[in-house]
Amino acid sequence: MESTQQLFDQYVIPTYGRFPLTLERGEGCRVWDEAGKEYLDFGAGIAVCSLGHSHPRVVDAMTRQARKLTHTSNLYYTRPQGELAQRLVRLVGHAGKVFLCNSGAEANEGLYKLARKFGNETRSPLPRHAAGEELDYASNRFEILTFDGSFHGRTLAGIAATGQEKVKKGFDPITPGFRHVPFNDAPELFRSIGPDTVAILMEPIQGEIGVRPATVQFLKAVRQMCDDHGLLLMFDEIQSGLGRTGDWCGWKTLADEGVTPDAVSWAKGIADGYPMGAFWVRDREIAMKDGSKMSLANLLGPGSHGTTFGGTPLGCTVANEVLSIIEEENLLANAREMGAYAKAAIENLRSPFIKEVRGVGLMMAFEMVADFSERIGDSRTPSMAMIARLHENGLLSVPSGTHSVRWLPPLNITRADIDRAVEILRSVLP
Ligand SMILES: *Cc1c(COP(=O)(O)O)cnc(C)c1O
Repeated sequence: MESTQQLFDQYVIPTYGRFPLTLERGEGCRVWDEAGKEYLDFGAGIAVCSLGHSHPRVVDAMTRQARKLTHTSNLYYTRPQGELAQRLVRLVGHAGKVFLCNSGAEANEGLYKLARKFGNETRSPLPRHAAGEELDYASNRFEILTFDGSFHGRTLAGIAATGQEKVKKGFDPITPGFRHVPFNDAPELFRSIGPDTVAILMEPIQGEIGVRPATVQFLKAVRQMCDDHGLLLMFDEIQSGLGRTGDWCGWKTLADEGVTPDAVSWAKGIADGYPMGAFWVRDREIAMKDGSKMSLANLLGPGSHGTTFGGTPLGCTVANEVLSIIEEENLLANAREMGAYAKAAIENLRSPFIKEVRGVGLMMAFEMVADFSERIGDSRTPSMAMIARLHENGLLSVPSGTHSVRWLPPLNITRADIDRAVEILRSVLP
């Protein structure tokens, strides 16, 4: 019989460079490979399994609902979808509405479409022509500004939105209508806003290039610029949202109530591993080109967007249970406390090989020194060289850029498990 890795070599399209590990089962923050070796899972997928693996209440909710009703299509109403939408609106804390889908990239597609429709159908506050001429309300704004180093998914529009060249390579022509600007640089962002600009999409905490939070001043400046220029502020909270930072909304950990977006996308941690995405749109009055007014939350009206699998009773029941558990077990507070504890513990190792530890709650990364690979004689990037060592010693971690290692453990992680992970890290540092 072929080994699992042989099956992949022969039959699975090789889009991923995989670690030489075949995982078979999981429980809490632990997983086991085919040979029965145990690993502490500090990736939790990639920030997906917010309650760890096989949480008994999640398994119960999933099996109960699977026996009752799995799928209906969105031609009908189902209770779990209505309740999940209500829950997501409440945790943002502002009136709005939610669309349910299946992944992060798909949630972001909804945001791009929202921005395009907003640009097509509302009046631009910026005059297109020189002073004296009539304002050209007929022109359609379409450009979405995103940031260098950002990640927004792997669809054609997703790679256009993503501020990293490596995801675009080989896929020309790139979908038009996106432009990248430096992160945390308000003056440069201000200069980049043009007559075609309609929205700004940002991760409040950039995940894929090493866990880099926006500064409070930047968040506030971006909101102000959006107000001044009639742009939508859209947050990609696919990685940073729903508890990971110690708040339901990652941006609130950075800037409390000072900043409210017009739209937010979620996915990863929303249903503890059941595939799901969602986006929220703020209930806010907008002025249409024909002079009428409506709510931004109703702009994507009947026929404008859809998805076969989004918001099934099964997925929504699981997400509702996951979000209830986070609330009942006080896991937002746990994410804050354990994040601070883990960050301090890594810093206390005082390793000359660790350049910096960054983190917001349980979204954290430590950056290896630039010449780490040369110093240990490993040809891989510092993040990959480090992760290989951690894996050998039973700790799963996730790379972030070429130099950082991410820890994204379940939100119910304990002090004892963090101690264990830090001990493994200590043991593999040269
Ligand atoms: C993972 C991620 C995505 C893409 O989500 P998929 O479910 O893989 O499509 C988009 N944005 C951010 C910030 C992410 O972390």
